[in-house]
Amino acid sequence: MDLETFKKYKKLARGNWGKDFALLKMMFNGFLGILKEEEEFTPPMETILKILLNIGTARKEGREIIMHPFNYGPELFITMDLQPLMQEIFSVGLAPFHMNEPILDFSNEIGYGDNPTICNASRPLIGAYMQGTAPVPDYLFFLSTPCNSLAINYQVFESLSGVPTYNMDIPYWSIEEDSEFYDEKALEYMTNQCKSFISWLEEQTKRKFEIEKFQQTMLRLNQAREYIMEFNELLRTVPCPAGSMTGFWNWYFMATIGGSQDAVDVTKYARDAAAENVKQGIGALEDEKLRIAWPYTHVFFDRELFPWLEETYNAIAILDILGNYQVEPHDTSTLDKCYDSLAGGTLGYSMIGACRGPAEYYIEYVINYVKDYKVDCVIYPMQYACKHAFAMARITSEAVREETGIPSLIFGCDPYDSREVPAEAIRGKISEFIEQVVL
Ligand code: SF4
Repeated sequence: MDLETFKKYKKLARGNWGKDFALLKMMFNGFLGILKEEEEFTPPMETILKILLNIGTARKEGREIIMHPFNYGPELFITMDLQPLMQEIFSVGLAPFHMNEPILDFSNEIGYGDNPTICNASRPLIGAYMQGTAPVPDYLFFLSTPCNSLAINYQVFESLSGVPTYNMDIPYWSIEEDSEFYDEKALEYMTNQCKSFISWLEEQTKRKFEIEKFQQTMLRLNQAREYIMEFNELLRTVPCPAGSMTGFWNWYFMATIGGSQDAVDVTKYARDAAAENVKQGIGALEDEKLRIAWPYTHVFFDRELFPWLEETYNAIAILDILGNYQVEPHDTSTLDKCYDSLAGGTLGYSMIGACRGPAEYYIEYVINYVKDYKVDCVIYPMQYACKHAFAMARITSEAVREETGIPSLIFGCDPYDSREVPAEAIRGKISEFIEQVVL
């Protein structure tokens, strides 16, 4: 990034973001510092800065803020001119800077859970709230998936903060007619909840839900989905045309600004860059030797893990479970189809689609992932608190081995806390697996 751009963003972030947004401001400055060292300043980098800035300046500019979890898109909020705040930008975004660790220690001290019982993906929200440093939105929305940890942390936050809240129940069964788990009532159940959520938003915000605006948002949302599907398809190429983090950012943009024109532009950018590399036969790595499936979250406290894998083993992590965004573009030609797209997109969202029902959903997802992307091995860095996923990973690894012969590494760690299993220990486990089992 050139000095002028750096100064421009530094200036834009000036001023008081409020005590509850002070940590977010520090995070913004942390990212800005990282980007300053990068030679290139790409549209995705700029979009990340804009997202953080928009959140930080929302209050000053009179935009009401709605907090939501990482597994839900902001399309309704964008339609209603509300400022979305994906909560995990805060509670997980602090992890690469280790700024969440003192908050986790404080949470332990006050007796709010511990690592094996409540997941540190969202636990810092409560500790930070008790310290007066958590962002407090105008409205809160959360879902019943993907885990008890998330649902309980958000319920506790609702109760402590008193913020008006809407909670959505996610059905278990499939909406795909060819699935053995198909239930014809699942989509209707979901669509009805979406409509009732819209009424709730109208009542709370005293704003009118504008149908035309909603349809335009859904059109843009599905355009971005189309680019992501094309990007995902391009990643099947050997060598892989995009780096290990690119897919993750696609998900991030859909979870923070999905439905906006910026999301269309930035997902198109990623698609175009990958397509150009495929056309020229260029891989993200000069000499790709290993393709890894990563059907779980990143080790968020260790930003250097993927670069280390790339440099040490010429290994590329094709997509992680969030970056492996799988919602196909829908037909949005009528209002009813827009509602169906809203409901279907929620059910197929990253992590929800693969984890909201019987273990068969996840097993099928990982087996397809291994086959589609010609991977050599599977790595699951499992969060201790994520008991349901831990159990699924074990049976999935056996199914993958049986069906494809591909080996898996499952190990416990806390992707949000560097002190639980340190970065060196994680690298040691991965090295041992790659050198003794995979190669
Ligand atoms: S890592 Fe597991 S326990 Fe933590 S929020 Fe995600 S699904 Fe829930």
